[in-house]
Amino acid sequence: MLIRNFIQGRIIFARLDHGEDIISQFTILAEDNEIEIGALSAIGALSRAGLAYYDQKSHEYGEIALEEPVELASCFGNISLKDGRPFVHAHAVLSDRTGRTWGGHLVRGTVFAAELYLQELSGLPLKRVPDSITGLNLWGKE
Ligand code: ZN
Repeated sequence: MLIRNFIQGRIIFARLDHGEDIISQFTILAEDNEIEIGALSAIGALSRAGLAYYDQKSHEYGEIALEEPVELASCFGNISLKDGRPFVHAHAVLSDRTGRTWGGHLVRGTVFAAELYLQELSGLPLKRVPDSITGLNLWGKE
């Protein structure tokens, strides 16, 4: 198990831009504010989105494309470093007009309207490195 302790830094609220990609907006906000480690959550609505499901046997992502307006009912994630730059890892629960939900790894989402909570953390940087067991880029021990 890898355990790190951090000190809380700034808390940032942001209204994301209509028509922009949500993951790009998270990343730009982290870069502009020089945040290398953080925790985030967001709520709002997306005009379309893509979730992914990681197949643990084939080690490949399959995309769940939602080409329709959905509520961003819940979104949680973190920011750490990958190749020296802030990298956003976020999961989301999306819902349609009937309340039906989809959940998974958030790959893309066009913002209709969304509000972000971002908690900056200070401490030793967490760096993503390839993990041979899972095939994922996980936090390394250095
Ligand atoms: Zn994920």
